[in-house]
Amino acid sequence: MTDPAPPPSLQGLHAIVTGGGTGIGAAITRRLAQLGLRVSILGRRAAPLEALCEQIPGTAAYTADIADPAAVETVFARAGDAFGPISVLVNNAGIALSSPVADTPLGDWQRQLDVNLTGAFLCIQAALPAMRAAGWGRVVNIASTAGLKGYPFVAGYCASKHGLIGLTRALALELAREGITVNAVCPGYTETDLVEDALRNISTESGRSREEALRRLTSLNPQRRLIRPEEVADAVAWLCGPTAAAVTGQAIAVAGGEVM
Ligand code: NAP
Repeated sequence: MTDPAPPPSLQGLHAIVTGGGTGIGAAITRRLAQLGLRVSILGRRAAPLEALCEQIPGTAAYTADIADPAAVETVFARAGDAFGPISVLVNNAGIALSSPVADTPLGDWQRQLDVNLTGAFLCIQAALPAMRAAGWGRVVNIASTAGLKGYPFVAGYCASKHGLIGLTRALALELAREGITVNAVCPGYTETDLVEDALRNISTESGRSREEALRRLTSLNPQRRLIRPEEVADAVAWLCGPTAAAVTGQAIAVAGGEVM
């Protein structure tokens, strides 16, 4: 079977963006809404989700912990009732905790796997029936350069993001003949709260200033800068579009040329 006739545009289709109220997720929400999609966003805190939805017509906010299977099932059903069958899923929600492996509490290790990897798995299971029924869909997993290479002191994060890329590659093959593409976007250090937290931790632990900590992070990027959330959102938008139908199972770095 070849790819069934794709929709001519994304206009009116329903996308779900996890962690869609802040940082990279908020930029993705804005970009998909600009393209005419109706966008459901979810996270644990209502306030940032509702604040963003007030600014962007055609969006709706849902609170859920993506590591909770029952909560995911309930929220995806409610979102489907409100905006119609899900055509696009962006698994963007994630957490990053930092510590040497020897000192990492089992709970921190497990929580990163639960949110960054199992959370994406649960959302995929919840979204797939509608995509399969339509014979068309897009899954984009926001992994990280930490899914393609190692960084010290974030082993749990690296392991979860490597796992997310493995899930992406396997699922892409499973769905290759069903009109559904599955890809990962791998940002380098990006200007969001998550990196602000990392800068604070580096400053506290090393006694360096925020500027020195920032220089250390940006030294990994040959362009010597942080990635902008909008640059990640543009890659997601392209992967969601009908012209990217042949692109599947890929892990695309948006990282200024950082060598993997
Ligand atoms: P962020 O602003 O902290 O975004 C993370 C989002 O995920 C938040 O909206 C958060 O909302 C949500 N979230 C976290 N745990 C959740 C859970 N259990 N259930 C539902 N939602 C949850 O940071 P960001 O930088 O934009 O990160 C977005 C994604 O990009 C993450 O997957 C991250 O690993 C990835 N990434 C970031 C960078 C970077 O340098 N910033 C680089 C590479 C990859 P609540 O707290 O309200 O739940």
